[in-house]
Amino acid sequence: MADQYRPREIEQKWQQRWAADRLYEVREESERRKFYALTMFPYTSGDLHIGHWYAMAPSDAYARFKRMQGYNVLHPMGFDAFGLPAENAAINRGVHPYEWTMKNVENMRRQLRSMGAMYDWSREVITCLPEYYRWTQWFFLKFYHAGLAYRAKAPVNWCPSCQTVLANEQVVAEGLCERCSTPVTKKDLEQWFFRITRYAEELLDHSRLDWPERIKVMQKNWIGKSEGAEISFRLEREDVEEKEIKVFTTRPDTIFGVTFFLLAPEHPLVARLTVPERRAEVDKYIGWCRRQTEYERVALGREKTGVFLGSYVINPLNGERVPIWITDYVLPSYGTGAVMAVPAHDERDWEFAKKFGLPIRLVIAPPGWAGEELSQAYVGPGTMVNSGEFDGLSSQQGYEAICALLEEKGQGRRTVAYRLRDWLISRQRYWGAPIPIIYCDKCGTVPVPEKDLPVLLPRDAEFKPTGESPLKYCASFVNTICPQCAGPARRETDTMDTFMCSSWYFLRYTSPRYTDAAFNPDKVKYWLPVDLYTGGAEHAVMHLFYARFFIKALRDMGLVDFDEPFIRLFNQGTIIHHGDKMSKSRGNVIAPDEYVAKLGADAVRGYLMFIGPWELGGEWNDRGIVGISRWLNRIWNLVTTPYAAGVVNPETEKELLRWTHRTIKEVSEDMEKFRFNTMLSSLMEFSNYLSRVKESAAVSKSLWQQSTTCFLLLLAPSFPHLAEELWSRIGLPYSIHNQPWPEYDRELAKEEEITLVIQVNGKVRDKVVVPASIGESEAKELAMNRERVKAHINGKKVIKVIYVPKRVINIVVAS
Ligand SMILES: [Zn+2]
Ligand SMILES: [Zn+2]
Repeated sequence: MADQYRPREIEQKWQQRWAADRLYEVREESERRKFYALTMFPYTSGDLHIGHWYAMAPSDAYARFKRMQGYNVLHPMGFDAFGLPAENAAINRGVHPYEWTMKNVENMRRQLRSMGAMYDWSREVITCLPEYYRWTQWFFLKFYHAGLAYRAKAPVNWCPSCQTVLANEQVVAEGLCERCSTPVTKKDLEQWFFRITRYAEELLDHSRLDWPERIKVMQKNWIGKSEGAEISFRLEREDVEEKEIKVFTTRPDTIFGVTFFLLAPEHPLVARLTVPERRAEVDKYIGWCRRQTEYERVALGREKTGVFLGSYVINPLNGERVPIWITDYVLPSYGTGAVMAVPAHDERDWEFAKKFGLPIRLVIAPPGWAGEELSQAYVGPGTMVNSGEFDGLSSQQGYEAICALLEEKGQGRRTVAYRLRDWLISRQRYWGAPIPIIYCDKCGTVPVPEKDLPVLLPRDAEFKPTGESPLKYCASFVNTICPQCAGPARRETDTMDTFMCSSWYFLRYTSPRYTDAAFNPDKVKYWLPVDLYTGGAEHAVMHLFYARFFIKALRDMGLVDFDEPFIRLFNQGTIIHHGDKMSKSRGNVIAPDEYVAKLGADAVRGYLMFIGPWELGGEWNDRGIVGISRWLNRIWNLVTTPYAAGVVNPETEKELLRWTHRTIKEVSEDMEKFRFNTMLSSLMEFSNYLSRVKESAAVSKSLWQQSTTCFLLLLAPSFPHLAEELWSRIGLPYSIHNQPWPEYDRELAKEEEITLVIQVNGKVRDKVVVPASIGESEAKELAMNRERVKAHINGKKVIKVIYVPKRVINIVVAS
């Protein structure tokens, strides 16, 4: 009698064996085609939750499938280990961020191993270790020397509670801090930036990428390209040094409709353009604006606010004096921080003009306009009026003509503007890679020489919620020697945005112990670009965008020879539980460890793959995983109990062959398209069929063995432990995971076909060849739509349709 299926025992046994044999370690091999299957590495939050499993188990199955298909597959894993939560743990619980992080790494590594994935652990990277962040710093220096890193004073999103700078993306929709939901304010700080805007145009091009459409759209919106003109408005004030203010507009055709001019309250000219008698009011307004969040400032439908400065600009085309106001809905970070206001043709300018009684002048007549007053801003195209020599032109012609005239007069030019801002990489935090810069009173800003890397994080920093980097108060870190003049100097105390670490980790996997540079160029040449990148859609903009920028910049520095890091991108869906996203506060979290202990990793893997289409996710249900577990038990019994051949039936043998080849075909096609749920359905049907064949005993022993062997190979990517165990139990040589993926015979895989006879009132009217598996409703629909049948029904009432499976359809009509 065969043993019971004991998943925990066999899983641990095989995981140990695979590790001892280094089964999944890969090397560069020129004779096999490479396949780089990358899964986003997890943040070291402490526990691997079911969402991680959902990202990782199906992607592991796919990587295994490619491996069996003969590809040389690189499928690495590591940890994104710098970041705020570790530092908060230090502040709140007195644990050093390093201890906290490495304890989490250890736990998560154990959990990842329990999954039985084919990660090549010899390539693991952990971004918070000096052997890794040394190279993050090295990249900073490369960007610095390439003119792509610069320091500037800039207003930043500031969370007064977390006491940290936030990227725009970390400010959630209501203008709140992503982490603690405190309203975000602004603060001016000297910071380091990367010139990602230099690559705006190239980053718009996704044409060679196999990515989800919505991710491409999100990135395009993030870049926010718009075409228009930059126009100079001369300042009327003689006593101000600057002679003009530039604006960007997408509607140069409306320039005759400018009736006021708007500046952001933070615009550097505001103080000088404020006349003395208006100063008090202006200062009061600016103070009020500072307390508003960016979200509040640009919210639609918000009552408009603003103050007149008392100064004017001159409209370059009609010479009119235009009053300068400040308003909070003009943001200093967008465009030039100045706007030519055209209330007749812009909704917000309209509201502003109405509020303050400023003139509204129509210059683009809507189609069919008969001189009536507008009741709201008209933003569409039309015919130019009140526009001097341009009257009568279409707005499109006017756009071109006005741009041409401005260019001729030297007062403007056609240009494009991007919403994209440069990447702010400074963080006032401890737990990140220190920025390798030294400030010397004599030499100024001095980059740390490459040979002096890494700039190590001191272990003895004090963690207090002061809002400034703990490094600032760590004298042993701050005080240093200038690399140029050897005089006393100070280190930069900001650390780098953790998105720096994740912008290049996929390069490090190719040569994780390389010490001459961040990566071995030969190995990167072999493995990159990544063929398949899988992970959560929440990284649609920042991580994926920064990584693309990194690669383009490295290409221009001559460090890599490709343009895009990730050729194919796939986002998995979300697993919900009791109808909701899982969260600790809802108490609906699924802890994968419990299920692994009870039912085995293979059952968890299989259930997650079965739960729904991978891109959509699904609802976790304990009954569902128990169902998968039962199925695995049935497979166990099917394969481990001996087969005794009876009287061989050639028809059954033919049928078994056809089933086998059809299943190989279906499973291969579904695997390739990530349709894991239908792939498992095919395998379930096949195993049910195999059970029936076994009962009938009507096939030869060798055919039975051939079919079950093939079945195990098809199971191997999804259920690596069970497949390995059964493979060894039927006496086949270790390891199933080194076997080639089974191939199917096109002829044999073809579905059996039958001829269906179609009758109308009992008379044969047509015949049609269909797959034997055709269902009743499908067959009936097919029959009703045949031309020759329609001719005989011809408007008559169909009384009933009788279906004799695999043989006849009889349509009964009223005569
Ligand atoms: Zn916060
Ligand atoms: Zn110096």
